[in-house]
Amino acid sequence: MKIICVGRNYAEHAKELNNPVPEKPLLFLKPDTAQLLENGPLYYPGFTKELHYEVEILLKICKNGKFIKPRFAQDYYKEVSVGIDFTARDIQRLCKEKGHPWEIAKSWNNSAAIGKFIPKEDAKNKNGHIEFSLQKNKKIVQKGLSSNMITSFDELISYISQYFTLLRGDVIFTGTPKGVGEVQNGDIFEAFIGAESLLTCQIK
Ligand code: MG
Repeated sequence: MKIICVGRNYAEHAKELNNPVPEKPLLFLKPDTAQLLENGPLYYPGFTKELHYEVEILLKICKNGKFIKPRFAQDYYKEVSVGIDFTARDIQRLCKEKGHPWEIAKSWNNSAAIGKFIPKEDAKNKNGHIEFSLQKNKKIVQKGLSSNMITSFDELISYISQYFTLLRGDVIFTGTPKGVGEVQNGDIFEAFIGAESLLTCQIK
């Protein structure tokens, strides 16, 4: 499986890191070795001094496809969850300054914490949108609403599948809302869709 991540998909988050809002979705990949599953702990990596959390809605691809039209995109995912795109922000800043790729900041071992997947219909609020949030040590640090995404799930699947064939089991990280921040050793993160806890992760 592969993990496809979307950057700057919420205007308020792009603003907090002084980034322009992209005209097209900004994509990067994480390999399967980046997965952190089953609420496993994350060991603070030795190569960064500024580890950040980014909570995101995840889509699990259930059918192979490429060049998918937005109107058919719903057929390609049945389940959603929440995850944390752990980012070495100090290294990402250096990569950006030099115009280098982001993988060493974003795609290292266990940098993609993946929650329990639930049927997409169960994830929606009464308006048909997904509300999600992240708690750090029992305090809410990020709150998001899928309707605030710059590019919708269906448009993302369509765009991504022009470049990368989507395979059953692939996971899309759909971007983080505002409120990203620093991770410290000992922190405990818990991520929710609505009131349902789908992921916990302790930093060791
Ligand atoms: Mg992210």
